[in-house]
Amino acid sequence: MHELSVCQGMLAQVSEIARDHGARAASRIVVRVGPLSGVEPALLAQAFPLARAGTVAAEADLVVEPAPVRVRCERCGAETEAAANRLLCGACGDYRTTLTAGDELLLVSVELVREEEVMSAKR
Ligand SMILES: [Zn+2]
Repeated sequence: MHELSVCQGMLAQVSEIARDHGARAASRIVVRVGPLSGVEPALLAQAFPLARAGTVAAEADLVVEPAPVRVRCERCGAETEAAANRLLCGACGDYRTTLTAGDELLLVSVELVREEEVMSAKR
């Protein structure tokens, strides 16, 4: 499953962040997944419990934030939201657009547990 390796990559980043902050665990991981990222949020949520076992995120919750698809129009210059399967300019309807958002898979934030306190690390 592709999503499992995505989770493992994400957890490697989380481990690194936890180590940089001297944290013993991560309690909450927020990721932003665009519809064109090639990652299915439901499958990501399914793969997460398998991937987190034995890592600093063994007890962590995963929150998947959906991201909008956005395009910039080459004709009128507008930047608008578009449907994932129809990347037309929302202002003039032209098809000559460049994708500016919607294909991302980003680690948005990680909540870390350090002895007693809970802290938040943004990236
Ligand atoms: Zn346009």
